[in-house]
Amino acid sequence: TTNTTRVDVFSVASGHLYERLLKIMMVAVRRRSKYNVKFWIIKAFLSPQFKATLPIMANKYNFSYQLVSYKWPQWLRPQYEKQRIIWGNKILFLDVLFPLDLERVIYIDSDQIVRTDLIELMRMDFGKAPYAFTPFCDSRKETEPFRFWKQGYWKDHLGEKKYHISALFAIDLRRFRQMAAGDVLRYHYQLLSADPLSLANLDQDLPNYAQDQIPIYSLPQNWLWCETWCSDETIDEAKTIDLCNNPLTKKPKLYVAQTMVKEWPGLDEEVRNISAGPDEYEKFFFKE
Ligand code: UDP
Ligand code: CA
Repeated sequence: TTNTTRVDVFSVASGHLYERLLKIMMVAVRRRSKYNVKFWIIKAFLSPQFKATLPIMANKYNFSYQLVSYKWPQWLRPQYEKQRIIWGNKILFLDVLFPLDLERVIYIDSDQIVRTDLIELMRMDFGKAPYAFTPFCDSRKETEPFRFWKQGYWKDHLGEKKYHISALFAIDLRRFRQMAAGDVLRYHYQLLSADPLSLANLDQDLPNYAQDQIPIYSLPQNWLWCETWCSDETIDEAKTIDLCNNPLTKKPKLYVAQTMVKEWPGLDEEVRNISAGPDEYEKFFFKE
């Protein structure tokens, strides 16, 4: 991975808002990198319109893409809520979603704004860990009472380990498969999900919970800024910004994007004009 010349990004989106955000994420990733860029997107949740738009965007911005899918296994406890199905797809099948020759991929939430060349993360040494996440920020004082991982269950379970955010993470797919990390995650998922109150944030709680068996490499704090937990002073040094939910202010995602992220309105304006014409659209629509 040290001399990789391609940035590989994995994402998932469902619904109009997240598809709009995904386009923005893709354009920002492409603009910020000097290298080749390939997107891997979960097929199951995309609208026909979005699928029809992908080849147009790929051509216009010069990136490649591939849709991926993995059928939820019969023996693995199902999820019934859309959001939780998406969270499951984001974390439970990392070992089986991608071709065997793909060495590393970076998962990015569709509501993320990227401000850096991700090649740095493609080439970074994660030591013995199969994946790398950013720990939650400590710098915003107002939300201190909401830091659930510093109290009760999570505090006891984590001990000295950190609680990490799952809006962006890089996976060393080779090491991940070598240590059967996918099986370990699914094993813990199967046990924990027996309790409906467990895994409230499935995609985030699971890798944090499993750190004893699957170590996480903690990225420097500036890899992920989110308004809920990180102070205003630190936004300028952020490499990526996530539009996370703020339990205190409950500000809508689009409001945060429009008011706190300088480049966002411009990107939004730009992607709004990219859409498939009737011919391209029909091709995808009737394939469904
Ligand atoms: N997501 C989606 N549709 C939904 C909910 C989630 O596409 O209805 C995807 C999307 O890529 C989003 C990610 O799942 O960025 C994580 O969603 P979440 O709601 O957890 O984001 P948060 O608000 O916690 O940052
Ligand atoms: Ca998010």
